[in-house]
Amino acid sequence: MSGASRTSSPVWHPFTQHAVMGDVPRIVRAKGVWLEAEGGRRYLDAISSWWVTTHGHGHPRIGAAIRDQVETLDQVIFAGLSHEPAEAVARGLVRLAPPGLAHVFFSDSGSTAVEVGLKMALGFWRNRGEARTRILALEHAYHGDTAATMSVGARGAFNAAYEPLLFEVGRIPFPAAGSQQATYDALEGACRRGDVAALIVEPLILGAGGMLIYATEALAMMAQICRQHRVLFIADEVMTGWGRTGTLFACEQADVAPDIMCVAKGMTGGALPLAATLATSEIFEAHYSTDRSRTFFHSSSYTANPIACAAARANIEIWEAEPVRERIAALCGMQRDNLAKFEGDSRFENVRQLGTITALDVVVRDAGYFASIGPRLYEAFMARGVLLRSLGNTIYVMPPYCVSGEELAVVYDAIDEVAKAVSAP
Ligand SMILES: *Cc1c(COP(=O)(O)O)cnc(C)c1O
Repeated sequence: MSGASRTSSPVWHPFTQHAVMGDVPRIVRAKGVWLEAEGGRRYLDAISSWWVTTHGHGHPRIGAAIRDQVETLDQVIFAGLSHEPAEAVARGLVRLAPPGLAHVFFSDSGSTAVEVGLKMALGFWRNRGEARTRILALEHAYHGDTAATMSVGARGAFNAAYEPLLFEVGRIPFPAAGSQQATYDALEGACRRGDVAALIVEPLILGAGGMLIYATEALAMMAQICRQHRVLFIADEVMTGWGRTGTLFACEQADVAPDIMCVAKGMTGGALPLAATLATSEIFEAHYSTDRSRTFFHSSSYTANPIACAAARANIEIWEAEPVRERIAALCGMQRDNLAKFEGDSRFENVRQLGTITALDVVVRDAGYFASIGPRLYEAFMARGVLLRSLGNTIYVMPPYCVSGEELAVVYDAIDEVAKAVSAP
């Protein structure tokens, strides 16, 4: 429906239908788990500002690192020149990542980290002179919003208009509990064709696809099938990385060492945009040649921006110096205790948890992303001072790790109240 715009701002917001939104609150500051809007209204950021804020907003060490870096080196071309913040981040990533990932390529967002990973996989096979060009991906996957990442993501209303831009991929069924064998069989069958370059997966949990959790054994098995057929295994850890699933990276839980790993979101603790794609020596070496046509052809203007790298270096220092893992373990426990109240509650189904993430589906007739309940939930939570942006009828809680027990209780009380309100006749 068209008509007069309900908003007084020229800003066009992401994934936002302005016709049903009106003016949006303007946030002026953030600290810990709290966002403060103009006029002083506060919101508890229970989704880590779209999954990026890990330790909490305004971590002093990250803020100080950014301030120091601005004073010394703001930006420099990264083709042919380097700088210590990027070198330190690369060394840190190699130290922390699953074994075998020895090279780090920087970019600016999760989508670009995934595109870079896909390009590396194709470049690898081309440089080795093998005709492997097909990409496999999971059903319900989400890997970003650029053309290539939409291609490997699930198809639906989000990308129907852009279909002409997208390439075809081999779709592997989601390894749901009880039907993993179907996933393995489909993967095996696809790999046997011999034309597959890579399989890309979100390890252990599909985020934007609805917080769909699968078993560590299934992740390990998919990686193993790929290995047997010499298909590259790409782990998209953009959401799962930096502690969300309980470990630094989700792959650790399945003892999986991917050929390519994409990280972004929590890489700077959520303070600045930065991403990286890690690759094995084998992939690097396939591009390493005096023949310049084998170069890895990718760049963006701000590749490895020093200020963003300084923030990422501070984040890595926090991981290595502060008891982050203990904090995460405590949060996992608090999440479990709060979620337990909704077990067997007839208003919800699929009550689930993976590490610091919990999710539950409100029982509705029109489930899915466009469930009519979605916008109503958002408004109801915001009215209670809680930022929870459900995926259709799926409510999920993914807070910064500094959240206290009392703050988390506020979130779950809001879920209880809102569910009462929306399910009341
Ligand atoms: C968010 C996300 C992306 C895209 O990251 P952006 O920084 O938003 O481009 C890619 N993959 C996964 C799994 C994500 O959750």
